[in-house]
Amino acid sequence: MSWTERQQALLRGMGLRIWSAPPPGRPGPVPAQDPVAAPPPAAQTEPLAVPAQTSTRTAPPPVASARTLPPAPPATVTAPPPEAMTAPVSALAATGVATLDWPALREAVAGCQACALCESRKNTVFGVGHTSAEWMIVGEAPGEQEDRQGEPFVGAAGQLLDAMLQAIGLTRSEADAAHQVFIANTLKCRPPRNRNPQPEELAQCAPFLHRQIALVRPKVLLAMGRFAIQQLLGRDEPIGRLRGQVHDYHGTPVIVTYHPAYLLRQPTEKAKAWEDLCLAVSVYRQRQGR
Ligand code: SF4
Repeated sequence: MSWTERQQALLRGMGLRIWSAPPPGRPGPVPAQDPVAAPPPAAQTEPLAVPAQTSTRTAPPPVASARTLPPAPPATVTAPPPEAMTAPVSALAATGVATLDWPALREAVAGCQACALCESRKNTVFGVGHTSAEWMIVGEAPGEQEDRQGEPFVGAAGQLLDAMLQAIGLTRSEADAAHQVFIANTLKCRPPRNRNPQPEELAQCAPFLHRQIALVRPKVLLAMGRFAIQQLLGRDEPIGRLRGQVHDYHGTPVIVTYHPAYLLRQPTEKAKAWEDLCLAVSVYRQRQGR
């Protein structure tokens, strides 16, 4: 198989090495050690083009090519998350956040002082994207650039996320609900010096994210990073143990994967992230009935 220049650029954008077919008559070695050497460039002509499965919850998701990407682990749906994911109870829960529409929710986030992070933030980071997106990306907490710009996933991590999304036919730019994602963070305000979010802060901010998900009603949730996973699933096992399964958030499938910022520090893990994306595409297609 050969890749167009644009497809190659997308895969390179994810930091993935391109595998080129050997000339006819020369079998040439298949880079078995590099499972993402030639992932499917699904974005180009057939968005989200991962083969359909016959069963939505038991069979492993087929990947585009056994030669280029190993089969993803069997997908198993785990138990729904506990209702109370963290011990502290958010003061916001009593303020009717769960009933707000988009403008009111945006206003509530902008003026929120429910935790101490409001004191050091420059901007709240509400989230961006299609308000009826079929894909929703949940990240962790805003960093310095996000705090400055008021937008999630900017900078190098944002560029990698864009490349990852593009590789499966998605975008954060304006498009229809099937292709434009909605991106939100677990926390809407930046923790000082980019420290980890505290349980109290996660608990206080949780109603905003839950309301965003309820309003978007995505078909698939992609949880990127440990704190996004904790917030959605109430699970704090290592990501490596939670990957490869289809988790559940109140009836919406959740695929967990590494945060792009982590992938920038650990580029060898990009192959796993690609597997996670393929699993997510497969689950999405099942939801589409394709
Ligand atoms: S992090 Fe969330 S709960 Fe805390 S002040 Fe910001 S919006 Fe409010």
